[in-house]
Amino acid sequence: MRKLIIAIDGPSGAGKGTIARTLAQALGYRHIDTGAMYRAIGWKAAFDGIPLDDERAVADLAQRADLVVEGDVVSIDGHDVTGAIRSTEIDKAATSVARLPRVREVLVARQRRCGEGGGVVMEGRDIGTVVFPTADVKIYLDASAEERARRRAGDTAHTSGRAGREAVAASIAARDKADTTRAVSPLTVAADAVHIDTTGMPIDQVVEKVMTLVRQRSS
Ligand code: C5P
Repeated sequence: MRKLIIAIDGPSGAGKGTIARTLAQALGYRHIDTGAMYRAIGWKAAFDGIPLDDERAVADLAQRADLVVEGDVVSIDGHDVTGAIRSTEIDKAATSVARLPRVREVLVARQRRCGEGGGVVMEGRDIGTVVFPTADVKIYLDASAEERARRRAGDTAHTSGRAGREAVAASIAARDKADTTRAVSPLTVAADAVHIDTTGMPIDQVVEKVMTLVRQRSS
């Protein structure tokens, strides 16, 4: 069977991670979480004391970085940052560095190199619109703001169980605003993406819906 490029985009808490991981496992594909790349760059900039709006310095860091995003393990320049990049500080740092056009250029080039051979499920905000505009399958996952906040507040990988639902909702709303209104590659639905609202939908049902599309495209 042909090895496809599957692009999954959408806002925080829409279920991209769970769906992309499950799909990749079922298909024997690689799962690439591009949000983890922006998070790792934000983490390393903070670690090195580089201001998050210093475009040239952050882009140089991204260009030079030994960045590994494999399955759920993330490391940068020898630091295992798998857990550290899921904090609320790094939520903000990732969104800050993601605004910088030169940083996006560097990371988009890396993402294209990772996925060009196919056999990949890549999740993010601009995969179907910018990174792989000709992806074989494009999914835009969404859910109501309440449901996304509820999922994130219950996700200990992201909140360590500390943040209340209201704080999580406010943080998600701020990131949604930054991601949809930034000048470069804002979060938007690709014209040819299949839009799935996962509000109230069990994971299995979402996976089945996407698998049906994958089967259609790969035959
Ligand atoms: O997906 P995740 O929430 O981990 O992404 C962290 C941040 O990285 C997002 O809020 C967004 O600002 C940025 N991002 C992006 N483009 C991507 C993936 C993530 O701008 N392809």
